[in-house]
Amino acid sequence: MTEIAKVTLENEMDIVMVHKRMIAIGEYLRFTITTQTAFSTAIAEVSREVIDKTNTGLLVVSIKLIASKYFLCGRITFLDDAELKESDEGMSYAKRLVPQFEFHKDGQGGWIELQIGIPRSSNLSPLRVSQMGELFGAWSPSTPYEALKVKNSQLNAIKEEQDEELRQSKYLHDMKTEFISIASHELKTPLTTIKAYIEMLMITSQQESSPKMIGFIKKINEQGTKLQQLIEQLLDISKVEAGRMDYQMEPVKLGGYVEGVVDTFRMLYPSHTIVIESDDIDTTIMMDKLRIEQVFANLLGNAAKYSETGTVITVGYSIQKDGSSTVSITDQGIGMNAEASERVFGKFYRADKVIKKYGGMGMGLYICKNIIEAHRGEIWLESQEDKGSTFYFRLPNVG
Ligand code: ADP
Repeated sequence: MTEIAKVTLENEMDIVMVHKRMIAIGEYLRFTITTQTAFSTAIAEVSREVIDKTNTGLLVVSIKLIASKYFLCGRITFLDDAELKESDEGMSYAKRLVPQFEFHKDGQGGWIELQIGIPRSSNLSPLRVSQMGELFGAWSPSTPYEALKVKNSQLNAIKEEQDEELRQSKYLHDMKTEFISIASHELKTPLTTIKAYIEMLMITSQQESSPKMIGFIKKINEQGTKLQQLIEQLLDISKVEAGRMDYQMEPVKLGGYVEGVVDTFRMLYPSHTIVIESDDIDTTIMMDKLRIEQVFANLLGNAAKYSETGTVITVGYSIQKDGSSTVSITDQGIGMNAEASERVFGKFYRADKVIKKYGGMGMGLYICKNIIEAHRGEIWLESQEDKGSTFYFRLPNVG
């Protein structure tokens, strides 16, 4: 079966259009004038009934090849069939005009099919049938209404294509998120066990192993910790994507909290000097302490990673006029250009100049942005290449 034309049945003007197109097809197939008129009228009458009683009609005209004989077939489908009946006046009239008429209806809709044999004198061949598809498919409209209808159906086709693309990309995105979630869960379990054994080894090796062996075990432990952090980031990414990131909000005194967090990181990054600069404020913020600590870990970790050993990292915090608190983390490192500054909070983004030299997956800042925004705050940065960067985040205060 080869489809050669399609018309949506929406209003009276479509009946005229259907009739005109069926006449054109009949002429092309060398039907006699009587047959052309009879078949076109039958299709137009059925279309009229469908337009009157439903609002979801569609006429599809096709050529069928049955036992080496060609047939012209008009099938009108409808979805909303509440009142449409085979005994309707238009249907009965059409039935008398064509040799084959079939009416089918089920709970959700139905179709009417009208069919007529094509004379051998038409000299149809598979090639000519496919040419008919091109000819009548790309039929050019002759009235403003027809032009509008063609435009409309083109727009509908584009919209359908776009909807399909959107569905596909959403499907791929969901699959990717699910993959990240499953893979990181699967990696996390054995790694936790490995880390536990390494830590036991570290304790026993103090008495039983040579300094060289203790050095090796320390290295394994450090790399294990890095791997754990990456897996935690992957898990967080899948939680963010699935909107499953939980927050345990509580009131926290900012000053004491920052001092405590920075003390911990001073131990973790003995390579750098971390100093605090503040207005000596005593303000309270609603926050999830662990998640904000994660933001500090990322920003301080980056400040240390992207700057020379021995340089200073400054942590500042202050209250703004609107009552919100701003935290800043400044390093004296490699900085970044304007393009990178704009893109760093994007998922998996890494500046060109760090890709070969520094480890990382470009997930940290994306997660930080999500955490800060979930606190109804904002995060931004200022940076100068080869001079250093300052990352800021602002959180609303509660008193
Ligand atoms: P990662 O550090 O794992 O690559 P992040 O999401 O934490 O991922 O950072 C994204 C990118 O932002 C980094 O790859 C780097 O190019 C840039 N960046 C982040 N922090 C700094 C910093 N303090 N100095 C210079 N560049 C930075």
